[in-house]
Amino acid sequence: MKTIIEPFRIKSVEPIRMTTPEERRDLLRAADYNLFKLHSDDVLIDLLTDSGTSAMSARQWSAILSGDESYAGSPSFFRFEAAIRDLMDFKHIIPTHQGRAAEAILFSILGGKGKFIPSNTHFDTTRGNIETTGARADDLVIAEGKNPSLVHPFKGNMDLAKLEAYLEQHGDAVPCVMLTITNNAGGGQPVSLANIRATAEIARRYGRPFIIDGCRFAENAWFIQQREEGQKGRAIKDIVRDCFADADGMTMSAKKDAFANIGGWLALNDDELADKARTRLIMTEGFPTYGGLAGRDLDAIAQGLSEIVDEDYLRYRIRTNEYITERLDAMGVPVVKPAGGHAVFVDARAWLPHIAPLQYPGQAVACKLYELGGIRGCEIGTVMFGRAPDGTEAPASMDLVRLAMPRRVYTQSHADYIVEVFEELTAMKDSLRGYRITEQPPALRHFTAKFAPL
Ligand SMILES: *Cc1c(COP(=O)(O)O)cnc(C)c1O
Repeated sequence: MKTIIEPFRIKSVEPIRMTTPEERRDLLRAADYNLFKLHSDDVLIDLLTDSGTSAMSARQWSAILSGDESYAGSPSFFRFEAAIRDLMDFKHIIPTHQGRAAEAILFSILGGKGKFIPSNTHFDTTRGNIETTGARADDLVIAEGKNPSLVHPFKGNMDLAKLEAYLEQHGDAVPCVMLTITNNAGGGQPVSLANIRATAEIARRYGRPFIIDGCRFAENAWFIQQREEGQKGRAIKDIVRDCFADADGMTMSAKKDAFANIGGWLALNDDELADKARTRLIMTEGFPTYGGLAGRDLDAIAQGLSEIVDEDYLRYRIRTNEYITERLDAMGVPVVKPAGGHAVFVDARAWLPHIAPLQYPGQAVACKLYELGGIRGCEIGTVMFGRAPDGTEAPASMDLVRLAMPRRVYTQSHADYIVEVFEELTAMKDSLRGYRITEQPPALRHFTAKFAPL
């Protein structure tokens, strides 16, 4: 059969409340043109994020009921720990309420003034958690990863020569080497197994812990299976195990590739580092066998991890994004190619050359998508990354709009609707105008900034 069907049936549904473009124009104004401020029931298709928005399976909901809420030593924790170890065999597994809590704990120990932390591309919360300690976060992705239209199988790869030079230059001031799989902020692009191993080898040679931000490990493993020489036909689970075999630790958001609505973890092999992390955890999250989560959440994560490595699911998920990307490409919308794992990325800077980067072309596209079609996407560009900690502003390396697909939530006709909205937008794109920011906080401004159209 040629058609890739959704590999699930739907037994519980959420109605979508229909709105008109006129209503949405008013709602947008009332939200100061910041899509994070919209009420979600004013959105038709919510592609703001794939974080925590997964549809859980019947088995996950069953696991929720059997979760054990004991303060210490709950069997839910041991199921959680075993499910993680089945995929990533770390010595210490420390639950947190989400990915950024794991980052905050890790960098409260490893960060600090005068430290330098490299990654292929730091995710926004990772960068925020590093910079808030006074450390510097640097992105060393390969040059191909910064060219949105260039087709390359592993655009998330670390530039290994740059990493070596970085470690030579900064020496003891580098407390760890990070690698984000897949590379979310860089277009959801995968990292090859060879590159993961080579990054680990360099980190080891320089005596630095190698930490993987593994939020999208299953999608990354799918791309390795599909695209990397010698990996065809291997089980996703085996590939996942190989990806983490050489790492000294990981941060994880279970709101991504664990099908959970909340949760995360920090995993470490080093005993002393893990001790410090647990001490911090008790102050900020909770006791080490629940870490800011309910026992039931730990069980939902454990069950979700056994489902996320299913090949039929991964094939359907990746195909949805490929399909939309191919259709947009065919109608002349510049998109990041090849399609990313969890999202479709539109290159707003290339599409709207009449809007300067400091007038936020990504924001202009995201707002118009909402007004026209009730689709909520997310600017990933100069709004998100354009402001330095000292308050100065410069264009980010790209101005993208991310349409992130919640897992198992939308169907093929939703995908076709999204394509149709882009057809309408294409016809009027030259009339779009940029934005200016009228109010903003000192960090992570995209969540709360207020905008005005120019
Ligand atoms: C989502 C995400 C995070 C942060 O996780 P939260 O659960 O949202 O705090 C960190 N890194 C990457 C790559 C992510 O996608």
